[in-house]
Amino acid sequence: MRMVDIIEKKRLGRKLSKEEIDFWIKGFVSGDIPDYQVSALTMAICFQGMDEEETTNLTLSMLHSGQVIDLSGIEGFKVDKHSTGGVGDKTTLIVAPIVACLGVKVAKMSGRGLGHTGGTLDKLSAIPGFEVELPAKRFIEIVNEIGVAVIGQTGELVPADKKIYALRDVTATVSSIPLIASSIMSKKLASGSDGIVLDVKVGSGAFMKEQKDAVQLAQTMVDIGKCAGKKMIAMVTDMDIPLGKTIGNTLEVLEAIETLQGRGPKDLEDVCLKLAASMLYLAQKGTYEECLMMARQALESKKALQKFAQMVQKQGGDPDYILHPERFARASYHECIYAPTSGYVFHMDTLACGMSASLLKAGRMQKDDWIDEKAGIVLEKKTGDVVQKGDVLAHLYASDPKLFPSAMQSLQNAYQILEKKPILQPHCFKTIQ
Ligand code: URA
Repeated sequence: MRMVDIIEKKRLGRKLSKEEIDFWIKGFVSGDIPDYQVSALTMAICFQGMDEEETTNLTLSMLHSGQVIDLSGIEGFKVDKHSTGGVGDKTTLIVAPIVACLGVKVAKMSGRGLGHTGGTLDKLSAIPGFEVELPAKRFIEIVNEIGVAVIGQTGELVPADKKIYALRDVTATVSSIPLIASSIMSKKLASGSDGIVLDVKVGSGAFMKEQKDAVQLAQTMVDIGKCAGKKMIAMVTDMDIPLGKTIGNTLEVLEAIETLQGRGPKDLEDVCLKLAASMLYLAQKGTYEECLMMARQALESKKALQKFAQMVQKQGGDPDYILHPERFARASYHECIYAPTSGYVFHMDTLACGMSASLLKAGRMQKDDWIDEKAGIVLEKKTGDVVQKGDVLAHLYASDPKLFPSAMQSLQNAYQILEKKPILQPHCFKTIQ
């Protein structure tokens, strides 16, 4: 078999066999197939696509390129969640403790943020002492003891994805449905849970800009998961507006705590309750409506907040910060942007909001960039809000005042203010199972 023939076959729009897919994944991971050939193939996949069988074979081949986590040491049903990435998405910090305090195990591996999207590990790392790198044995012990732990992915998990994603990132081949689906699902399958809830984001701050593409991605991933014997639900949710009011790690932890106290923004609470209900439903805790009610009660009773504090403590963090969030250190410098005219916030370029936060050093432009956990943005106005000329649209926080001008410009440009009232989208567009 020759890689050049596989590239040509896909360039001509023909279907790759399982053997051909295994050949290039194995060859790339071992170093026998060079970057330039894999780049050519991923570009051909971008143009020609892959059918369901090819995408599933690619996912399984990537999955078996490395270690598969064995969660059999954890009793009971294990459920995972995954978001395709967005701005202000702190749902894991809220959803995982809700689900765990209702008796369903969450053994979750999360990632760091890159570009305009945030990452759960960066948010958790903003909690003093919180340890995201734990040995597998300790991870499993914690989940058995308290029902939940969230750690970083181990180095051996899906090495094929690490190599392919690094190439896709620099060859404009990220936004291909089969490549995204296989990348995400190989990692989710390797993480070993019995059920997986996917939060597929759509809109200006997401990979998927159009609803039909997001639905297709969601359906593809659900099909792959089912084929691998997992229980699956995918929700397609709105990322045309940042989720909640905060962007940036400490600020997002504070908002997650407020939401766990029952005082969070409605859009964030709504998405979290629905994700939690879907996870509980997969674990057969009741009908979806019953699960939704249980999730709501877990917030109202503060049981989920207590579970979060317990998880923080077990992972080396100081739970007093969760119970007394005023203890979190805040950024030294603050600026605001103002409405240039009166009207309605008609649209927000959510990617530009995320980039503005990255310019404040709340996120990374490059994989190894340092991030400032205290930096970020609090949105005072969001899409649909009425504004008067001169009203504060958003607060920006940074540790270095030189960062403000470009971040303020990016955020100001993200707001479109018109006299016309926008039609607001639902937070959750569609559920696929
Ligand atoms: N997230 C991933 O893990 N992979 C992709 O390809 C896109 C988003």
